[in-house]
Amino acid sequence: MRVHVADHPLISHKLTTLRDVNTDSPTFRRLVEELVTLLAYEATRDVATETVEVTTPVTTTEGVRLASPKPIVVPILRAGLGMLDGMSRLLPTAEVGFLGMLRDEETLQPRTYANRLPDDLSGRQCYVLDPMLATGGTLAMAVDFLHDKGARSITAICLLAAPEGLAALEEHVTDDVDLNVVVAGLDERLDSRGYIVPGLGDAGDRLYGVV
Ligand code: URA
Repeated sequence: MRVHVADHPLISHKLTTLRDVNTDSPTFRRLVEELVTLLAYEATRDVATETVEVTTPVTTTEGVRLASPKPIVVPILRAGLGMLDGMSRLLPTAEVGFLGMLRDEETLQPRTYANRLPDDLSGRQCYVLDPMLATGGTLAMAVDFLHDKGARSITAICLLAAPEGLAALEEHVTDDVDLNVVVAGLDERLDSRGYIVPGLGDAGDRLYGVV
C-alpha cells in the first residue's frame, strides 16, 4: 500500500478552512470540491493512457488519451458524494459507480446498504472517494467489495486520515491489490468515538447537515 500525503500550501490553506467549526455548509462543499480536484491531479498520476495520433493546425504528432476500459470513480455514500464533482472535473470521461456504507456509531463497524457497480471490474482502475479515513473499516470493506468484482488497482482519495486507520488498512489489504491512498492531511489520532483528531468533525453532517 502506498500513501501520499499531499504537501502543497493551497491544499493546507483550504484544509484549514474546512477544519474551522465556523465554516458553513456551502463554503465547506465548495472547498471539498476544490480540494478533491487538487488531490485528483496527484491520484491520477498513474492513470492508464494509450498513444494516439493527433493532427494539429501545423502537423501530425503523437499524443495520449485515457486507455480503455475507462477508470471508474466510486464515491462512498453519503459523504463521498460531496467529492464527486471535484473528481469529475478532472476525469469527466470516467464512469461512476456508487457504494452506500454506514458506520454503526456504537461498534464503529461499517455495513454496505447499497451498491451500483459493474459486475466485472477486472482491468479497471478504481478511484474510491471517502473523505475520512478514520478506523479504516469502511475503506477496507470497500476494497474487499471491489476486489471481489476483480479490481486490482484501487486508489482511495481522502481528505483526512488517522494513523490507526492507515495501519488497519495496510494490515487488511491483500498482496494482489495495488492500493494507493492519497490524502490531504494525516492527523494525530482517533478519539474514543472513532473521530479523527483534530479532524473536521462529521464530514457528512458538515456537507449536508445533520439528518
Ligand atoms: N467520519 C467522519 O465524518 N469524521 C470523522 O472524524 C471520522 C469518521
